Amino acid sequence: MCGIVAYIGPREAYPILIKGLKRLEYRGYDSAGVALLNGDLNIYKKKGKVSDLEEATKGKDTHSHLGMGHTRWATHGEPNDKNSHPHVSQSGDIAIIHNGIIENYGTLKEELINRGHEFKSDTDTEVLVHLIEDVQQNTGVALDEAVRLALQEVVGAYAIVIISKNDPTKMIGARKGSPMVVGIGEDGEYFIASDATPIIEYTKNVTYLNDGEIAFIKDGKLSVKTINNVEKTPYIETLEMNLEAIEKGGYEHFMLKEIHEQPRSIYDSLRGRFNPNTGSFAMRSLKEYEGKIKNLNRIIIVGCGTSWHAGLVGEYLFEDIARIPVEVEYASEFRYRNPVINEDDLVIAISQSGETADTLAAIELAKEKGATIFGLCNVVGSSIPRASHAGAYTHAGPEIGVASTKAFTAQVSILTLWAYGFAEIRGKATKEQLRNAFAEMETIPDKVKKALECEAQVIEIARTFSEVHNALYLGRGYGFPVALEGALKLKEISYIHAEGYPAAEMKHGPIALIDENMPVVVIATKGNIYEKVISNIQEVKARKGKIIAIVTEGDTKVRAMADYTIEIPETSEFLEPLVSTIPLQLLSYHVAVNRGCNVDQPRNLAKSVTVE
Ligand code: GLU
Repeated sequence: MCGIVAYIGPREAYPILIKGLKRLEYRGYDSAGVALLNGDLNIYKKKGKVSDLEEATKGKDTHSHLGMGHTRWATHGEPNDKNSHPHVSQSGDIAIIHNGIIENYGTLKEELINRGHEFKSDTDTEVLVHLIEDVQQNTGVALDEAVRLALQEVVGAYAIVIISKNDPTKMIGARKGSPMVVGIGEDGEYFIASDATPIIEYTKNVTYLNDGEIAFIKDGKLSVKTINNVEKTPYIETLEMNLEAIEKGGYEHFMLKEIHEQPRSIYDSLRGRFNPNTGSFAMRSLKEYEGKIKNLNRIIIVGCGTSWHAGLVGEYLFEDIARIPVEVEYASEFRYRNPVINEDDLVIAISQSGETADTLAAIELAKEKGATIFGLCNVVGSSIPRASHAGAYTHAGPEIGVASTKAFTAQVSILTLWAYGFAEIRGKATKEQLRNAFAEMETIPDKVKKALECEAQVIEIARTFSEVHNALYLGRGYGFPVALEGALKLKEISYIHAEGYPAAEMKHGPIALIDENMPVVVIATKGNIYEKVISNIQEVKARKGKIIAIVTEGDTKVRAMADYTIEIPETSEFLEPLVSTIPLQLLSYHVAVNRGCNVDQPRNLAKSVTVE
């Protein structure tokens, strides 16, 4: 999820780009770079923040009226200088910046290498700029057409800007699946950016490109056509938002924005990793470690906080689907308790930041004892992926809110894929079962979107419960880790004491806490243990507790007993945590807002815990 900004017009481009990149830094800050056309194509790029780039360009020639800038959140290739954008074509004449993922970059790269192209980075992006030049050279078409034809060969998501030394009055932007807005200034000047924050102080006239559209800006004029060559008339609108509101996409807090991003982040985490038609996987970890996976005795999942909860869902998934015994460990305990572990074990280390100190130490310990390590992280090139033998990135985009939301569902998405991948390797899942599971997984982003529609109702419920001091969260089976995660979210950002319990455990202690002031949130969706959960609800009701139930659409039984019910779409049990967790995130958010808490930066917490 990078930030892109570009300018063509009478002003100096460089200061506009730098200022714009600083506003887009919330989208990623692995590296920053600019390409400035002034006869030559001057490219400056640097690992780190935009301020590091500024430092690096001091005293350099930055004069230009056509330029573009990029702040990166790496998906392919470590965050370092060489993988920073902009990237250039084989001749060095064409430059590109890109936000998104080119899914078929592997195949394209191989073909291009066979045709003599040499690559300087490990990114998927560089493939696209080589491809554009390749098309141009092979067909003799103009740059516009070469971009359009190249994009027809691309599978994946992108917002790109292209400039070329041979076409110094032209700027091309295109998008599919990643955002892009074109700003129309005075005197034939134009801006392109990921959102309107870099543009707003120069012009309020913008047009948002639609998926599959390309914007050509040449000699002070804008034209738009689709990748399939259909001309479009751009719809120009006037911006009325303030800067901060745009950065947060109109949401009051990053956490709320990130909650609402989940249909997208789940989609991005799953995309390109399985083929629903053939029932096959495209995951390096599965391919390269097939032998290991076939013979392993046990999986140990380590993590902290929300990642530990994702791990718990992982336990249910791996045992249920792949029939492999799993242990889920707090990394901080695991590392200090001399665990029994050997070369037949696989350790899955989960961490959003990839820097969690305890998880990193747990990996080192497990490695020493000969285990194989898979990392599951959101930040490319962070320490945990580097310390792991293999793994997968979650592609959720930067998570800014301290309370983790979209990283959790992205982690669970990948664990689900791995569970099926492991099952296939160990002969526990047929192609038919895989095709069915993939078809189900493909419906999840829409189901999450549907689940988000409960927000108005959650706001009402939050009003009633904002003053409580305690809350219980109950669930069974796949609902149990979700209950734990729901309770953690409430604790973290609203400072209300909350406990998650397996619903049936309640009568072994916590039931003593229940009275008319105790809200009890129950995951009561239809599944194997639905009837049992209903009995647990009865037990709470008999003691006058207040029930907030998460139920399957159309449910009547629980509705008749609960004080409040929140419906979510019907989902296969193994995918339910991805959907049932949504109302709980929203509930914690709205309770915290009502209590006047600092949602994005709760007291005493930090986003990445790099101390033990
Ligand atoms: N895939 C590109 C890279 O890793 C762009 C990253 C993004 O937009 O998140 O450089």
